[in-house]
Amino acid sequence: MKVAFHQVGVSTRGRTDLIDITDDVEGFVEGSGVKDGICLISSLHSTTAIAVNEHESGLMKDLLHYIDKEFPMKGEWLHNRVDDNAAAHLASTFLGATKAFPVQKGKLVRGTWQNIFLVELDGPRSRTVIIEVIGE
Ligand code: ZN
Repeated sequence: MKVAFHQVGVSTRGRTDLIDITDDVEGFVEGSGVKDGICLISSLHSTTAIAVNEHESGLMKDLLHYIDKEFPMKGEWLHNRVDDNAAAHLASTFLGATKAFPVQKGKLVRGTWQNIFLVELDGPRSRTVIIEVIGE
């Protein structure tokens, strides 16, 4: 079994943001030497998430708008007594910090309209995404 591990630094640009990391993930998978297996994509933060969907500007704005509506900054959140970012923690929990894809014939298997995004929920900041490919 082979394991390839890669760390990607990402600079986010706003309080909320979507950064498309599909090229980073695919490039790493293709260079990893793993032909068949699984690829994990994981963000190392409690106020970011990994999302999979179409890279279309309207949809990307819709997603951020939906997050703001479901998890309003000024909600009656208890965690806001500590550091005023409860909405970001909650959205991160529900979106999830890790996604997995199959790897087949040395390539990431994904749908044509399935791009991979780091979702910033409490930025702008420097963030770290882990890509790990496991297989043979
Ligand atoms: Zn917090």
